[in-house]
Amino acid sequence: MPCNVILLEHTPRPDGLVAAAARMCYSDMGARELVARVAEETDEARERFLAGLWKSGHHSPLEHASFTFGVDGLSRVASHQLVRHRMASFSQQSQRYVKMGQSGDAAVVTPPSISSNQRTLDIFRRQAEASLAAYEELCKIGVPAEDARFILPHGWETRLVFTMNARELQHFFALRLCRRAQWEIQNLARQMLKLVRAAAPLLFRVSGPSCVTGTCSEVHPCGRRYADMEDLLSQK
Ligand SMILES: Cc1cc2nc3c(=O)[nH]c(=O)nc-3n(C[C@H](O)[C@H](O)[C@H](O)COP(=O)(O)OP(=O)(O)OC[C@H]3O[C@@H](n4cnc5c(N)ncnc54)[C@H](O)[C@@H]3O)c2cc1C
Repeated sequence: MPCNVILLEHTPRPDGLVAAAARMCYSDMGARELVARVAEETDEARERFLAGLWKSGHHSPLEHASFTFGVDGLSRVASHQLVRHRMASFSQQSQRYVKMGQSGDAAVVTPPSISSNQRTLDIFRRQAEASLAAYEELCKIGVPAEDARFILPHGWETRLVFTMNARELQHFFALRLCRRAQWEIQNLARQMLKLVRAAAPLLFRVSGPSCVTGTCSEVHPCGRRYADMEDLLSQK
């Protein structure tokens, strides 16, 4: 199963809420008035304001807008990287309480470098199926699932619900959409960016690695900088 991510919920009108929260810092108006005032602004004015906010380093208002995703078909290799992002909240399917291999097949994400070659694919599938067979045998003997799972491959699929605010998302996209990041988390980040751009087009109009938002900050640049947002989003 390929990684599938959906946007489950998000703060209503994220662009407007962040703009209103930021305007609060520079205004003598109350919150309700400010929200109404911002709602009357043109998209261009709001976009200019939000861009200035980001450029100035005044990033905390972005924390008022949250986005909750559901993902399945992600490997535990990638989820291990995802959960390193401490400003996010996570709920991950447990391998203690949920028996693995219910479909009968080894649910392992296959990297393209392996699936593109029949010989490597055969080696990979054979070992994954053997791991699942050993897991099932251990469970049958009476070993608890929480211990039998130690035999399962690192690439085993997992499911999560997770929430990030817009500030954390900007940080996440900067790190994980860089071509130097691991391919699977890049794919996940790209799908997420497409989803949040639909929900908050002004907040995420420009978002991603430093080659897109400014100048590449990598110590070892990839030498293949993205031309623009379109180029970044169109990659497979
Ligand atoms: C290309 C790449 C390669 C990597 N390779 C490795 C590796 O080999 N080994 C490894 O262990 N990790 C590796 N990582 C993971 C990396 O070190 C971070 O753990 C991960 O990217 C989360 O980033 P973060 O801590 O900036 O973000 P978050 O946890 O999302 O935090 C966001 C920001 O909040 C602030 N913050 C959060 N917590 C604290 C805190 N306790 N104190 C101060 N400020 C805080 C920081 O400014 C931080 O940038 C890699 C990441 C990338 C993108």
